[in-house]
Amino acid sequence: MSVIKMADLDLSGKRVLIREDLNVPVADGKVTSDARIRAALPTIEAALAANAAVMLVSHLGRPTEGEPEEKFSLKPVADRLGELLGRDVPLATDWIDGVDVEPGHVVLCENVRFLAGEKACDEALAMKMAALCEIFVMDAFGTAHRAQASTYGIAEHAPVACAGPLLAAELDALGKALDNPARPFVAIVGGSKVSTKLTVLDTLANLVDTLIVGGGIANTFIAAAGHNVGKSLFEKDMLGTASDLARDEHDRAEIPVPDDVVVAPEFSAAAPPATKTVAEVGDDDMILDIGPETAARFAAILKNAGTIIWNGPVGVFEFDSFGDGTRILSEAIAESDAFSVAGGGDTLAAIDKYGVRDRISYISTGGGAFLEFVEGKKLPAVEILEQRAS
Ligand code: ADP
Ligand code: MG
Repeated sequence: MSVIKMADLDLSGKRVLIREDLNVPVADGKVTSDARIRAALPTIEAALAANAAVMLVSHLGRPTEGEPEEKFSLKPVADRLGELLGRDVPLATDWIDGVDVEPGHVVLCENVRFLAGEKACDEALAMKMAALCEIFVMDAFGTAHRAQASTYGIAEHAPVACAGPLLAAELDALGKALDNPARPFVAIVGGSKVSTKLTVLDTLANLVDTLIVGGGIANTFIAAAGHNVGKSLFEKDMLGTASDLARDEHDRAEIPVPDDVVVAPEFSAAAPPATKTVAEVGDDDMILDIGPETAARFAAILKNAGTIIWNGPVGVFEFDSFGDGTRILSEAIAESDAFSVAGGGDTLAAIDKYGVRDRISYISTGGGAFLEFVEGKKLPAVEILEQRAS
């Protein structure tokens, strides 16, 4: 099924409400990283150039619904967006009953999570949002896995509901990587959210040829293989699942487990690193990175890949002593001819730290949404756009 795209619609003179992901870090009333605002610019500029009356909607942080709080206000975003667009961007604080905006102008609506009923996808709230516009544009991939009033309910009720350019590009790129992937197809799943990534591993093992594990996930596989992991982050409840996955022979992915690791006595930037084989890890050790031999072995697998999906750093890359594994793998992805897709907040931070952003084929703006897409789950906010297109 396909969706209507904003690029295919005549927006001239129309009231167009765009759901953006402008959830950026703010400190002291200033935006500290404007990457998401910059990512949204082409869509906003295209709508303005088409002479639409543009209303922007986004969440910011996790305020208590129905209790507007200054620290979650989108005012700093309106200011930064205004600088980037080179025009005034007014912030509409009371917008749900009507927004004053002329064609060729843009208004940012205050934090949608200030409204009671947003998260529960309250129907009355969604209908009010839908009544504000003639065309609803969903352009926030990072929130597409949540069925809320501003991502799902409004799309049910708006006269026309379509995908914005950012969302459309994201779905195309991810679809291309997953529909008919060039092989070998390799996934890297690392990081610290071990239990939430469990279902992903099980699904991925059916899709990919090699599943590289790192971080707390690798530690769980090391423990499942019968080794001591000392004080390392791992998931006890997942040991059975990990050994099932590792043992599985039914045409599922190969899961190469690290054979050397970098350990430290504590979780800190200053902790002295030591390289050990997995058999040498002691009770007081914390595994904080994959070792150099393992990194070289994984890098060789990545260089030879046809498609790579990456979510989760393989070590505590924020501390330089434990960043080599993630650095070596990110460089291997950059050097590989594979079509590569990466997503996840900390994964993107690692990509920037190691300067490989422009050598990764596609950077997903979503973390949770990216993983759910990879798992083959239908994203609710996309599903409703498909229904509205048919
Ligand atoms: P993402 O945000 O990319 O989805 P996660 O949030 O799951 O990734 O995990 C990222 C975090 O995992 C990083 O902050 C990193 O320091 C941590 N991490 C990686 N390896 C380990 C490890 N061996 N032990 C503890 N934490 C780890
Ligand atoms: Mg994270």
